[in-house]
Amino acid sequence: MSAEPAPPSAPDDELRARKYEAVHNRLFLLRLVITLGVVAAYLLTGASAELADGLRTRFGRGWLLVNGFYTLITLFGFSALMFPLSYYGDYVVERRYGLSRQSPEGWFLDYLKSLGLELMLGVVFFSVIYALLRWLPGSWWLWATACYVLFAVVLTSLAPVVILPLFHKIEPLDNAELVAAAGDLARRAGVRVVGVFRWGLEEKTETANAALAGLGRTRRILLGDTLLKGYSREEILAILAHELGHYRHGDIARLMAAGAALAALGFFVAQAALKGLVAVFGFASPADIGSFPLLVFCLFLFSLIALPFSNAYSRRRELAADDYAVRTVESAGPLVSALDKLASQNLAVRRPAAWLEFLLYSHPSIARRIERARAVEAALPR
Ligand SMILES: [Zn+2]
Repeated sequence: MSAEPAPPSAPDDELRARKYEAVHNRLFLLRLVITLGVVAAYLLTGASAELADGLRTRFGRGWLLVNGFYTLITLFGFSALMFPLSYYGDYVVERRYGLSRQSPEGWFLDYLKSLGLELMLGVVFFSVIYALLRWLPGSWWLWATACYVLFAVVLTSLAPVVILPLFHKIEPLDNAELVAAAGDLARRAGVRVVGVFRWGLEEKTETANAALAGLGRTRRILLGDTLLKGYSREEILAILAHELGHYRHGDIARLMAAGAALAALGFFVAQAALKGLVAVFGFASPADIGSFPLLVFCLFLFSLIALPFSNAYSRRRELAADDYAVRTVESAGPLVSALDKLASQNLAVRRPAAWLEFLLYSHPSIARRIERARAVEAALPR
């Protein structure tokens, strides 16, 4: 999965960005192949059925305990197996390319925190799914979608106040001048003022980022301290305007609705596929937790096929937010220079291969965003 060779005139950072992207693409492919291999081996060796039987012998009719312990052991085992790849991909590569500022111990502590979070969420989520499979074998996929939406709403609401603060310091922006300018920008754009917060990325990474996070009362704009430091006032306001664009367009709700539609389709496909598959592999019903690898296989394959579609939708929302930013600040200049800085700082390939952008990019490439911003500026009324 190597990218096209860069033209000889490409600056050093573009070459480094291409190498960095190639490493990530290879890791993506490797994770995918290993995941499918592990799921297949777990099913075909009978290890999954054996664990389920063992837990049933131990807990008898306490199926909720059987399912809970099965998912906990299985998800933990998988994470342990993938640990070398996580360490290499998320730490070694980041250090090698000069993007991470963390010590190995600091990284490991963050890894443990996110592992704990994933295990907790995974066990709750799959316990609910298997309870639904048992109680409502015909319509479980519909209820599973409802649970998915509930999960998404709770997690999105909690993200900026509970989850993100586990990893980064998040505090109200202390720059009174910038807060006033942000409020002014929001009023001029006809958007109700939202909180602007400083997102403490600097102690862990060299990369910069900004985001609209939360839902309802927890909704807020996060500006990385790495961005506040190295960017001009105009560039920061252009980025703020982009985030206000997401806010104005209701993009968090839109993306959640799109996610719910895909989840419904995914669960429905799994429902249809599982009926036949469980019989082939000798399980009594899809509600038998021993058949977990089959459910994971269906959902994993579906999410892989759905990825380009959800990415395409996300890219459209990003371009709409860029358009909004250019119209609000009435110029493309500050957004273009901010995007250019972000590309250098985050080691982004400015013009990736079109098929890679189509498959894997949740944001349009920097080159595409810059071209579009200039086109929107050219169409501004004078
Ligand atoms: Zn955005």
